[in-house]
Amino acid sequence: MTDLNPYDWIDRSLETIERANWYRSTQVMTSLPGTEVVIDGRSLINFGSNDYLGLASDERVIRAAIQATQAFGTGATGSRLMSGHKQVHQDLELAIATLKGTEAALVFSSGYLANLGTIAALVGKKDLILSDRLNHSSLKNGALLSGATTIEYQHCDIDDLRQHLQVHRANYRRCLIITDTVFSMDGDICPLPDILDLSIEYSSMLLVDEAHATGIFGATGAGVVEHDHLAGKPLIEIGTLSKAIGSLGGYVAGSNSLINFLKNRCASWIYTTGLSPADTAAALTSIEIITTTPQLRQQLWQNIDYLKQLFNRQLPQLRLIPSVSPIICLELPDAQRAILIGSKLKQAGIFAPAIRPPTVPTSRIRLSLMATHQRSQLDRLVNTIDLIFSEAKN
Ligand SMILES: *Cc1c(COP(=O)(O)O)cnc(C)c1O
Repeated sequence: MTDLNPYDWIDRSLETIERANWYRSTQVMTSLPGTEVVIDGRSLINFGSNDYLGLASDERVIRAAIQATQAFGTGATGSRLMSGHKQVHQDLELAIATLKGTEAALVFSSGYLANLGTIAALVGKKDLILSDRLNHSSLKNGALLSGATTIEYQHCDIDDLRQHLQVHRANYRRCLIITDTVFSMDGDICPLPDILDLSIEYSSMLLVDEAHATGIFGATGAGVVEHDHLAGKPLIEIGTLSKAIGSLGGYVAGSNSLINFLKNRCASWIYTTGLSPADTAAALTSIEIITTTPQLRQQLWQNIDYLKQLFNRQLPQLRLIPSVSPIICLELPDAQRAILIGSKLKQAGIFAPAIRPPTVPTSRIRLSLMATHQRSQLDRLVNTIDLIFSEAKN
C-alpha cells in the first residue's frame, strides 16, 4: 500500500486549469437582478444576464411567486407522478403549449434536465443523433446519456448535415437531429427551415432548443419556430423558464403523444421533485406578460440595433462575432486578454463576463442586452471599451 492521497489529483488538476487561464469562480451578487447590480459590494452596469426582458425583478412576477408560496408552500413535496403535481403546474403547461402552438407541454426542474431526459428517452443504442458542433452542453450530454451513435455536424452547415444523413441514416433505426435555435455563446441562429426540410426528407425527428429565443423571437415571443413560421410542424421544442421568462425550470412542447410518452419514460422528469410553486407561478405570470406586452420585445430589439450601430461607428476595428440576437460577443485573441478586458470593464463599473475555453473555442467578452437597458448605459459601455483599447495601444 502507498500513502498516496487518492484526492491529490484534484489539486493538480486545478493547477492545470489555472495555468491555462481557464480557472473560474463565483462572484456574489447582492441586489435585485436588473441592468444595474451590486457584485462583490460594487454597483455595476449589467451585461451578463439572461434576464432579457427584465422580468426576474418585475413586481407582478415577484408577487405571483409570493402568493403561490403562501397558497401552496415552498416545495412541491414530491415528484409530479406522486404528490408533486399542482394546479399551477397544469396552468403553466397549458400556457406554454398555447404560446408555442403545440398540443401539449411538460415542465421540468431545469432546461438542462429537460434536454438530458428527453433526448435519452427518444433514442437509444440502435439510433443516430446528428448534433450541431456548437450545441449547448445539455444537448451534448443528453446525446451521451442516450447511448445513441452521435455525429457532430459543422456549425449551422446544412450541406454537412445532409451528407451525414445520406451516408448514415439508413444504418440506424431512429434518427434525431438536435440543435440550439439561438446559439448561447455566439448569438447566431440555426437555419431552421432547411433543417426541418432535411429532417422530413430523411424521416428523422428534430429537437430544437429555444432557451435563448423564447420571449424574444416571433410575433408573440414564442421563439425562432414562430419567427420562421414553423409552428405546428413536426418538431420538438425545448426551452428554459430561467432566461427571458425570469424564473427557474425547463419545458418540452410538442404533440400529446410525445408528452404522454415522456411522462412514462423520461427519467429526469419522473424521478425528480416537481418545480416549486413559486417558480411555477412566476413563470406563468411572465408568460402572460410576454404575450400581452410586445413593447418589451421591441425595446430589446431597439437596444440591439442601437448597440451594434454604436460599435460599427465608434469601434469598427473590433471584431464582433456575427449575431442576430441579444447576445453580442467581442472576440479576443486569447483567454488572458479576455480576462484582462473583463476586469478593466469591471473596474470601470461594467459587468461583462469573459468567456473562455473550454466553454467556447475562442475567447471573448460576451454582452447580453436587456429590454430595460437605457441608451446612456449602452453609450457608457462602448465609450469604456473604446478607452480600454486606446489605452492598450499607447
Ligand atoms: C441555459 C440553457 C439551457 C439550460 O437551461 P436551464 O434552465 O438554465 O438549466 C439549455 N440549453 C441552452 C441552449 C441554454 O442556453
